[in-house]
Amino acid sequence: MIGKCALCYRERELQLSHIIPKFVIRYLKKTSVGNIRRTDNPNKVVQDGEKYYLLCKDCEERFNSAETLFANKVFYPYLIDNKEEFKYDEWLYYFITSVSWRNLYLDITNFVKVGDIQIDDLHVLIDSEKIMRDYLMKKRNDMGNIKNHIFFFGDIREAYKEFKQQNPHVAFSRSEGGHTFYNSKRKTYMSISNLMGIILITIYKMHSEEYWENTEIYNCRGIIRAKNQYIKSVVGQEFFEWMKEINESQLKLNSHQKEKIVKNIIENKEEFINSKIFEQMMKDRKS
Ligand SMILES: [Zn+2]
Repeated sequence: MIGKCALCYRERELQLSHIIPKFVIRYLKKTSVGNIRRTDNPNKVVQDGEKYYLLCKDCEERFNSAETLFANKVFYPYLIDNKEEFKYDEWLYYFITSVSWRNLYLDITNFVKVGDIQIDDLHVLIDSEKIMRDYLMKKRNDMGNIKNHIFFFGDIREAYKEFKQQNPHVAFSRSEGGHTFYNSKRKTYMSISNLMGIILITIYKMHSEEYWENTEIYNCRGIIRAKNQYIKSVVGQEFFEWMKEINESQLKLNSHQKEKIVKNIIENKEEFINSKIFEQMMKDRKS
């Protein structure tokens, strides 16, 4: 498939680009007892994450080194070794930007297609996409007021009761995906991606009452810790909707699929008890 690359704008052969990097779905599959399912159609088994003809080969490679560093220095140490402290450098800022940019690029197209977005909201998103694209292409070194954050959805200690009732540990740690959202009234705009409980957030613009503590990633050397993080933000509502969608998709499973899942668990009981999902289920029960 030949087309214009979304990042460098050259006419090139386009690759099927993953929106959430492919090591995430690979690890999700590897640590699952049964199959991976989509929330919009849970009866269908998923082989791979969401992907589109988006980038040329050069641009895919442009993202590679930051992706590998993130996988090896944050993703696996957090999920496998329960590490809580991560040293980073510019690569982390670049990585978050690259994931959010992919979401933003596709979502702008969707918002325009649906047609209900206000023009000034659209402007914020389009301007941000341009700044991020230039930064990713190394045409600029900073992104102005655009901020990157990471929130680790490890062990939630404090949250609303309704929030906890949605099984947040299982919902976030056993899924992946991302999208852009905005709140016109509060003039807050961001892209969020869930990488099995590690949430990447790029904030394009936010209300003065938004509060983010111990979550920001700077474009330089630093340390981020998966503890004592605190958010007071409209993003909470997005998290809530996300969990609801995941939980409701369970209800959409037909009886044949349900039987298959139960049978699989019974046949692989040992494996299930030692699995990541079982560990997260226990956390939801405790909280
Ligand atoms: Zn390109």
